[in-house]
Amino acid sequence: MTPLLELDDVRKHYPVHQGLILRRQVGIVRAVDGVSLRIAVGETLAVVGESGCGKSTLARLALRLIEPSGGTIRVEGRDVTRDGRAALRPLRRQMQVIFQDPFASLNPRMSVEEILAEPMLVHGIGDAASRAARVRELLGLVGLASYHADRFPHEFSGGQRQRIGIARALALSPKLIVCDEPVSALDVSIQAQVVNLLKDLQAEFGLAYLFISHGLAVVKHMADRVAVMYLGQVVETAPAKVLYANPRHPYTQALLSAAPVPDPTRRNARPALDGDVPSPMNPPPGCRFHTRCTVAQARCREEAPGLRPIGAGHEAACHFAETIPAFTRFGDSVRH
Ligand code: SF4
Ligand code: MG
Repeated sequence: MTPLLELDDVRKHYPVHQGLILRRQVGIVRAVDGVSLRIAVGETLAVVGESGCGKSTLARLALRLIEPSGGTIRVEGRDVTRDGRAALRPLRRQMQVIFQDPFASLNPRMSVEEILAEPMLVHGIGDAASRAARVRELLGLVGLASYHADRFPHEFSGGQRQRIGIARALALSPKLIVCDEPVSALDVSIQAQVVNLLKDLQAEFGLAYLFISHGLAVVKHMADRVAVMYLGQVVETAPAKVLYANPRHPYTQALLSAAPVPDPTRRNARPALDGDVPSPMNPPPGCRFHTRCTVAQARCREEAPGLRPIGAGHEAACHFAETIPAFTRFGDSVRH
């Protein structure tokens, strides 16, 4: 079946300039550097990685809010890589977005009714009465009473505001919603409610999600498949069950061992990844992860591992994906 969304070797490179008057180019940031992925109708693909790994740039590329420097983006088989504003208009209805910070993305001067009706107004859908009816329907879908329509964003809690953000994303009955860290700013107790709401809506409307997250724990009960990103590239992708049970890339293993454990008194007790993500302007040669990889060998510093199949629907970009220990707890493996 034709995928709903298909990215093929997509790149986004930004030139970096220095100097106020004589601006000269001093480098290129490879924010997204050759990413291929597919999302089927009704599927959730989670994209996971630390900040600075290119996830948000990838989200903006998938929505065609920015144009890629290379590669191809297809929506339902149609190449939209170079489409301009007018050609992208129908796409805007099919693909919506939910942001990390619902407060920043909701206009404080607009009532909930105005916020939810706006996408319909922009796309010329319905008359005032039918839009008002749809606003009440949308509030019901996200579990908010209809009297909330007259209230303003500041009158709501963080979790309620995210529900309003979700209702707005649903207004045009999209096929895909890009969720850019939608629960990262919420209390842990509220996170599960919002994730469950997203799952219920998916079951009801056959929605597909591109779910961006900096950690693997949040997406565990949400994702059908997971793609782990490091420095602009996918380093491992697999069906969620496979990835959590048998992570093959040392970076995925590190992310899993760094995931907060449920016991709140022990949250951060386990070692996180050592060091920062290197600059995407000068990524390390060879395997980009070698500067932080506890099992790196000489070959890793020279030869870049490509993403290659290592099992059913499972791909990893590591020279030793098949042979590294089953689950290296980060920090206690021995350097070769
Ligand atoms: Fe680590 Fe080498 Fe694998 Fe890269 S290729 S993840 S440095 S073992
Ligand atoms: Mg981000």
